[in-house]
Amino acid sequence: MSDRIEKLINSAAGKKLLSAMGVTVATDLQRYKATQASYFSGAVLLGAGEDAKLLANIQENLSDSDAQVFYSPEAAAQVGGSADSNATSDRYQALVFDGSGFVDATELVAAYRFFNASIRKLKSSGRIVIIGRPHLQCANPEAAAAQRALEGLSRSLAKEVGAKGATAQLITVADGAEANIDSSLRFVLSPKSAYISGQVIKVRAADTDTGADWHKPLAGKIALVTGASRGIGEAIADTLARDGATVVGVDVAPMEAELGKVMSRLNGKAVIADITSADAPSIIAKALGELGGADIIVHNAGVTRDKTIANMSEQHWQMTLDINLAAAQRITAELLKTNTINDGGSIVGVSSMNGIGGQRGQTNYAASKAGVIGYVDFMAQSKELAAKNITVNAVAPGFIETAMTAAIPLFTRMFGRRLNSLSQGGLPVDVAETISFFGNPASRGVSGNTVRVCGQSWFGA
Ligand code: NAD
Repeated sequence: MSDRIEKLINSAAGKKLLSAMGVTVATDLQRYKATQASYFSGAVLLGAGEDAKLLANIQENLSDSDAQVFYSPEAAAQVGGSADSNATSDRYQALVFDGSGFVDATELVAAYRFFNASIRKLKSSGRIVIIGRPHLQCANPEAAAAQRALEGLSRSLAKEVGAKGATAQLITVADGAEANIDSSLRFVLSPKSAYISGQVIKVRAADTDTGADWHKPLAGKIALVTGASRGIGEAIADTLARDGATVVGVDVAPMEAELGKVMSRLNGKAVIADITSADAPSIIAKALGELGGADIIVHNAGVTRDKTIANMSEQHWQMTLDINLAAAQRITAELLKTNTINDGGSIVGVSSMNGIGGQRGQTNYAASKAGVIGYVDFMAQSKELAAKNITVNAVAPGFIETAMTAAIPLFTRMFGRRLNSLSQGGLPVDVAETISFFGNPASRGVSGNTVRVCGQSWFGA
């Protein structure tokens, strides 16, 4: 019955009716297809504030896509006058603004003028990308304020364009990391980031491999995915394999048949282990060692055991913390100790929006998922990992359409999936695309990030 009601609501007639009732109707998001020729195609309007520092890098990036680039007069003036500042397009697939040169609040008006004039021309499933600098690395407080202002601007723009399935992000590029912007810019411009909006991606200086093939960036890489037999873990395994990686999937004994099916479909390797068991770290290290070590480590396995804290048993508290947080740390420690993570590798934690915003009845889960972020923040500063050029990041999914969320009662579910700027739930593949972006050898400048995959959920920070 609830399936039939849902089908009706999502039909063309249902959507028309909702729209007539004044309810925001979700736009179908464009997602990546392996058959698409380039990561981006369509018209881009490039704008800039005074003294923009990354225009040349943005131009170089777009020259590798099927973009047709138009320039605002301010951007045209700064790219050597080669651009025709009078040329415009009726509609744009992307609006890209370089605000990296802002050093004063009064200069921000250039961003206002750019978006005021162009935002109505942004197409459905379009992209807004703002480029800035990390505010704490600015030379003085006025510049720091101007750079931090870009975050509020981009998050608000994301809320203004979400109804048409469009997204907005800020990329902050550290001094000396200009050449490392490439993978982040490709990701946020492409349909791979369909369900990510209102995020800040921090890019730091690092030794980066620039030769990656956009369609097969993980060719020759070995990836570990825990909890790989279903849901988000299965999508991560599928996506990493699609991008060229050999996947080693881990799951518990009761999931052996499901894991076997996924791994044989992907030509991967199945490892049966409860990640909380004492011997799991060495079993996993051995399996990865036999393949020459791992390049991507994804700690996806996780559970919920929901109850308000007054009603929660200590066993359920401890079990949730152990599976979601402590086990991943023990496995990472063993892999580092046995040198099983290859140089240039990537470690990814799976957090949750509820780990950021908190949730009634989820003190254990939210604590574990906030812990994932703390671990990632700290590890990203590790000298040992920096020496091996290993990155550490987290994804924080919001409402993702899985068996878990399908079990939520219909009206709570319908309400839950709409509480974000894109007015819909995300798909497991949206989380997986973000993890593949972190694992891309061209993303070595992306470390210490927690990227929310939540359609800019209205809850949480
Ligand atoms: P799921 O329950 O469908 O899959 C989790 C997998 O982990 C299962 O295959 C399970 O067998 C495995 N697993 C559990 N305990 C294990 C253990 N001790 N050892 C080895 N494997 C174990 O869940 P999902 O919805 O796909 O979620 C995957 C991850 O994403 C989890 O970390 C979850 O907290 C996180 N997440 C999910 C959502 C969502 O909306 N579904 C939102 C935010 C975060």
